[in-house]
This record gives sequence, C-alpha cells and structure tokens, in this order.
Amino acid sequence: MSGVVYLVGAGPGDPGLLTVRAQQLLASCDAIAADALANPAIVAAARADNPSVELHDVGKRGGSGDSARQDTINALLVRLAREGKRVVRLKGGDPLVFGRGSEEAQALARAGVRFEIVPGVTAGVAAAAYAGIPVTHRAAATAVTFVTGHEDPGKGAQQTDWAALARAGGTIVLYMGVRTLPRIADALVQGGMSPDTPAAAVQWGTYARQRTVVATLTTLADAVERDGLGAPVITVIGPVVALRDEIAWFDRRPLFGKRVVVTRASAQAGALRGALESLGADVLELPALRIVPLDPEPLREALDRIDEYDWIVFTSQNGVALLWESLRVAGRDARALAGRKLACVGRATADALRARGLVADVVPERFVAEGVLEALDLRDDVRGKHVLYVAAEGARDVLPEGLANRGCTVDVVPVYRTASDGAGSAALRDALAAGRVDAVTFASASAVRGYIDAVGAELARRAPAVSIGPVTSDAVRAAGIPLGGEATDASIAALADATVRLVGDGRSAG
Ligand code: SAH
Repeated sequence: MSGVVYLVGAGPGDPGLLTVRAQQLLASCDAIAADALANPAIVAAARADNPSVELHDVGKRGGSGDSARQDTINALLVRLAREGKRVVRLKGGDPLVFGRGSEEAQALARAGVRFEIVPGVTAGVAAAAYAGIPVTHRAAATAVTFVTGHEDPGKGAQQTDWAALARAGGTIVLYMGVRTLPRIADALVQGGMSPDTPAAAVQWGTYARQRTVVATLTTLADAVERDGLGAPVITVIGPVVALRDEIAWFDRRPLFGKRVVVTRASAQAGALRGALESLGADVLELPALRIVPLDPEPLREALDRIDEYDWIVFTSQNGVALLWESLRVAGRDARALAGRKLACVGRATADALRARGLVADVVPERFVAEGVLEALDLRDDVRGKHVLYVAAEGARDVLPEGLANRGCTVDVVPVYRTASDGAGSAALRDALAAGRVDAVTFASASAVRGYIDAVGAELARRAPAVSIGPVTSDAVRAAGIPLGGEATDASIAALADATVRLVGDGRSAG
C-alpha cells in the first residue's frame, strides 16, 4: 500500500490557470476531495478524463470556525491514503494561502501519511490581474501584503495590526473581507492611510462572471453593497488600482458579460465553446444532441463490398468516426478505402478524414448538399457511378436524389441519429425565461430541433439565433426563432465572429 495525498491548488477559477502538475494528477489519481472554491468545471473535466475516479465533495463555506468539519476532512484524507489511494485534495487558489492546506499537511504528517504540495495561482494575484490591476508596479507599489479580512477590527483581540499596514505603504490584498470591509477601511484610515486611496473589489475573479467595482478606500464598501457583490471577493487597496483604467483587458473583450448558448453535441462543443470563451462569453452548454449509433449491420455489409463503390460521401464527422469504428471491429484500417473517391459536405468532416490520414477529393465551396452537387458537377468521374452515402437518420434527400439524377446508383446507409439530452436543459430554460440569454448558436439544422426539444418552442423564441449557414438559418426561421446572424462560412471561427457581430459591444468594464 502506497497511498499518498496531493494538496493541490486549483487556481482561482479559470481552468486554464491550473498547473500542468495539477492536471496530470487529476487525470491519474484514484480520488478527488474538492473544496467549494475549486471550480466545479475542473472536477467535471477530471472526471471525463478519469471516469473511475472517486469524488468526495468536502466543500465547506464560511471559514475557520468550522474545526469539526476540518477534522472530518483530515480523517477522510488519512483514511483514503491508508486504503492505498492516490488522493488529490483540491483547493481553490493556492493550498497554503488562507487555504488551511498547512493544517491538512500537519495532520497527514502526524498520521505518517505521505503527501506532496502542488502550489496554485492564488486569487489575490489572479483576480487582480484579470481586473487589470498589478499587485506591484514600479513607482506605485514596492510591496504587497496579503491579509485576511476574516478578523473583524471592530471586535476583540486582533492579530492584524491595521495601523502598521496603513503606514507600510504598498498594496493591500484582502481575502475574505467583503463583510468586514467598512471596519477595515476605518481602521486603515485611522492608521493614517489616505481616505482617497484607490480601491477595487473583484468578485468571481477569472470566471466569465467576474465583476469589478472601483472606488476609494472610504467609498468602496458602499459601492460594493450598491452593486450587490458578495463572496468570493478579492479587495485590492493602493495606487496600483488606478492602472486598471489603462490595462483592463479581461472585461474589455467583445463578448464579456454576454451569455451565449452552445447547442452542438457535447462531443463537438469544445471548439466552439473555447472560441466563444476566449472572446469573453459566459457559455451555457446545451448538450442538445447526443449521437446515437444505429444498427451497425448495414454499414458492415457495405464495407464487405466496399470495392464495388466508386465514391463515398460523408455528411458529418460522426459518419467518419462510425465508419472507422466498423473498420476497426472488422480488423481493418484506412487501406480498406484505397481507390475510393471521397466527398465531404463540410470542413469539419474533411478534417475528420485528414486526422485518419485521408484527403477528401471533394469539399465544396458552399457547405451544403447543393454545394456538393455543384462541386461534383465540375468533375467527369461521377456520372453513372456507384456511391455509398454515409448519413444521419432522417438526413435531407437532396444529395442522394441529386446523385440519382446524375445516373448514379446510391446506397444510403444511415449510421447514427441525434437525440436531445434532457439533463442540463433546466438551467437553460430558467435563463431563457429570465431573459438572461444573449444569443444561441446553431451549427446544424438538427441542433435547432434538439434545442426546441430541450427548451420548448415558446422559450426557444426568447433569444436570437446565430447560425452556421443557410440551411441552418432556414431551420431557425421555420422554428420561429429570431435569426440574429449567420456565419460567412461553415466554420467555428465564422460562427463565433457572427456572434460578436450580433451581441459584442466591446466596452462593458465597470
Ligand atoms: N487558497 C485560496 C484562498 C482561500 S480563502 C487562494 O489562494 O486563492 C477564500 C477567499 O479567497 C475568498 O473569500 C475570496 O476572498 C478569495 N477568492 C478565492 N477565489 C476567488 C475568486 N475567483 N475571485 C475572487 N476572490 C476569490
């Protein structure tokens, strides 16, 4: 038995700020015990990478009074390690900055359990940076103090000498201090700090929902109250706060503060989600479509006589993936397709082939069925040929009919269908009903149907759509959803651009 506990910092929220070490451990450990402040998306991603991992939700809120629960957590870590498990104890920010990671390390040391510490990006630095505030700056701050606001200067014995901090100069970064802010500000002013010192509060720093309030030492508490900011908040006090005017960036991105829905099947949603998030959007994902493979037998039969076909037409990357799965099951590989010509409706489908070492012979200018026919008409090796058409159940008939009109013999083999995924749509329905959705993106006509299945026709009309192309736009209009924009070509980047044209406004920094 060689159990071990890793005390790991999850960073302030943005999963991109996780360390490489943390990610490796999350992907390979046996158990995760996560804090409330560790972004749940990080745990969800770890679970997707590491499906058999055991999850222990030990999130606790409210700070240091709760020593009984801390004892329970310590006991859990010791027990799991003694069972021989490799345990990630995941904590928000850095585990040793106001995180009680050192107390857990003491408990492990006393119990003779092996442990390692993996530092994380602490919120006091990161929330400030994402708000455009450097915690030090030449000429403005030569020192920075991280201090907990958990002690109320209005009450009883104090460990923190606020007057000394007021005299020390430099930047003060306050953790856990929203409620005590008025008294802390008083104590600092009494200690000699100028009441006009710039001060900022950053809520949910590094998350898409980050909010920032800028004021002065004496006006910040009221401003925070007025804007309704509550924990988790980092407060930064000092001349560095003024730099935000010049170097704010996170909340100046074009989609910052906009809530955008991604309706693609979850397996394909990653790229669009990433593109929208890097533009600042708060992305709500609707796992609108699940890919449900159909009976593999017809495809298997077609592959048995693959040499009879001149062309294979793919309408989606799912078709490519499922055909590959059939080949794999039959103990075959790409060579089985040698000599066949390959046509794709769109770039993503062609990319799926390229990832398997094959270059499509036909990828049309217009990524719709009609575009494929136009492209095929430019060639002299199509008329009268034998075509295998790998499609989704219920796909449009334009392509097979068009090919038949060109004298081709077409075998249509449906390999999958799409189904809506009920779970996860409740949050979206609430957001739509509350008018909190700015745009809904659609990458296919079937995604429109999946969206309506998930949220209902009435709610679906509450937010404008951005579509990937003309066929999807027709489906949007047919469903009565206001069409707010259309991508200039059928790519993820163009869909994201169209979203910016619809809802992006650039300057929403507070
Ligand atoms: N170990 C953590 C701090 C835990 S104490 C770290 O190194 O960041 C909890 C406090 O951290 C909160 O009350 C808040 O002040 C701050 N905090 C943590 N995450 C935050 C975030 N994303 N935005 C703003 N403040 C955050």
